[in-house]
Amino acid sequence: MHICSVVSARPNFIKLAAICRAIDRRPEAAIRHTIIHTGQHYDPLLSDIFFTQLTIPTPTINLEIGGLSRVDMIAKTHDALLTVFSSLKPDWVFVYGDVNGAVGAAGAAHECSIPIAHIEAGLRSFDQEMPEELNRIAIDGMARLLFCTERSAVENVIREQRSGTPVLVGNTMADTLLSTLPFIRSRTPSFSPHQPFVLSTLHRPSNVDHEEPLGHALRLLTRVNEHCRVYIAAHPRLMRSLASSNALMALASECQIIEPLGYLEFLSALDRCEFILTDSGGIQEEAVVLHKRCFTLRRNTERPVTVESGSNVLVDPSRREDCESVMQYVTSRTPAHIEVPKEWDGKTGDRIIDYICRL
Ligand code: UDP
Repeated sequence: MHICSVVSARPNFIKLAAICRAIDRRPEAAIRHTIIHTGQHYDPLLSDIFFTQLTIPTPTINLEIGGLSRVDMIAKTHDALLTVFSSLKPDWVFVYGDVNGAVGAAGAAHECSIPIAHIEAGLRSFDQEMPEELNRIAIDGMARLLFCTERSAVENVIREQRSGTPVLVGNTMADTLLSTLPFIRSRTPSFSPHQPFVLSTLHRPSNVDHEEPLGHALRLLTRVNEHCRVYIAAHPRLMRSLASSNALMALASECQIIEPLGYLEFLSALDRCEFILTDSGGIQEEAVVLHKRCFTLRRNTERPVTVESGSNVLVDPSRREDCESVMQYVTSRTPAHIEVPKEWDGKTGDRIIDYICRL
């Protein structure tokens, strides 16, 4: 069997690592696995370092399609992959998450009549202003297998009457985390602030692309920083916005701005931080597995299980009450009781590969 995995961005690489390991554990299945990188994330700190640290094989093809608008990125990826798929003729195309490259890849596979498996299917924020939501809906419309991380995703797929089959398999992000954690805990961390610290990331367009929401988010971070040092692992998208506004840069600089961390360093920091302030999708899930309190600076989440688990709290930084509830936690630190979904057990990649092999 020949599987083609198409990946584009940081969170995809982490999910891909779990699939690579699951394939390696099934030599008898004789799976040929071709990895294609679309090039959406090309900064070495967002791309190469993940392949090295997670020992993912170097992609056979890198399309180098990055730095474009969403529509151009989808169109160019689609066109380039039409040629690739027509010549490779894989049995399955695996696409991951909700990135632009995944939409282009799914479109090309669909046009070549190659079945698509969507890893992390069915998630819905019900916010069509989010480009990621449009991407998820488009991919799920074309996928034959919809591998879901949580029950809400299966319900969404069923409600939308998708032609593909939803399968609740769990979370490949959790696979990679759980397999990496013992290694991380056994070594001295390279990112090691002397004081207790809070870890933060911001990169969603709705938070970082406009001055007003970014100002609200940064003001909340600086308030927290007065009590506990906040480290912002700054995504290039955030840095671009800060570079264009002295006022916002000054505000952000009250916290500690650091470069994006490699996966090992970031996971280690997540494991040791007091709590998390983020707008990332994947970090909401990692917080659950690490039993951490996570404040997600968004009005909605496509991952409701993270809230139900007891870890995640949604915060709209423009709302006073929301900011006050964060500050109340900062001063009280009431411990949260967090329950990890039972499918997030580190075996999701194996379930996906077993499922495909049994077909
Ligand atoms: N991450 C990382 N270094 C960082 C920030 C995040 O390795 O400096 C990892 C993090 O552990 C998570 C993934 O990147 O697994 C999340 O990616 P991101 O927030 O960019 O994307 P999203 O999940 O929001 O799509």
